[in-house]
Amino acid sequence: MATLLGPQQEAGEKCELALVVIQIPKIILVDVGVCMIMKTQRSRETKQRRIVYDTILNADLHPTADWIFQEVRTELPQISLATVYRNLSVLRENGKIHEVVGADRKAHYDGNLDPHAHFICTRCSDIWDVNDVIEKDVDWRALKDLVGCEVHECNLEFRGLCPPCRRNANV
Ligand SMILES: [Zn+2]
Ligand SMILES: [Zn+2]
Repeated sequence: MATLLGPQQEAGEKCELALVVIQIPKIILVDVGVCMIMKTQRSRETKQRRIVYDTILNADLHPTADWIFQEVRTELPQISLATVYRNLSVLRENGKIHEVVGADRKAHYDGNLDPHAHFICTRCSDIWDVNDVIEKDVDWRALKDLVGCEVHECNLEFRGLCPPCRRNANV
């Protein structure tokens, strides 16, 4: 391209070069605009996902999508239930949260990734963590030899009445 600037250059070529110089800033402007939109969208999605995740971590019991939606709305009034579901799905696929099916047959979400068992209340559907029940260093390879399966996880579940429901049942 440097030869275009040489002394033997003709008038037409000069015009063509000038046209190119004018067009370059336009292309850059469009690209910067698209990048800005994508960046804004990405940072909005990241913010939504972080708030959904924090809501699960800060919840006492294992919340449902509806509960999470109501909580997140106080901070992000524009968010929809579909967006909350989409974020829950991404967090689950990324291994950040687990899904536990409650007595209400709804999906409840759990941000505690340490091995633990659950107590599910059959009356109010609350799900409580039960720690120290599962041996932390169980040798799952022994199970593989025993039943011929490859074990990825173990879910231990207790069902019954939680303390508040038990107290109410005794009144
Ligand atoms: Zn209960
Ligand atoms: Zn749990």
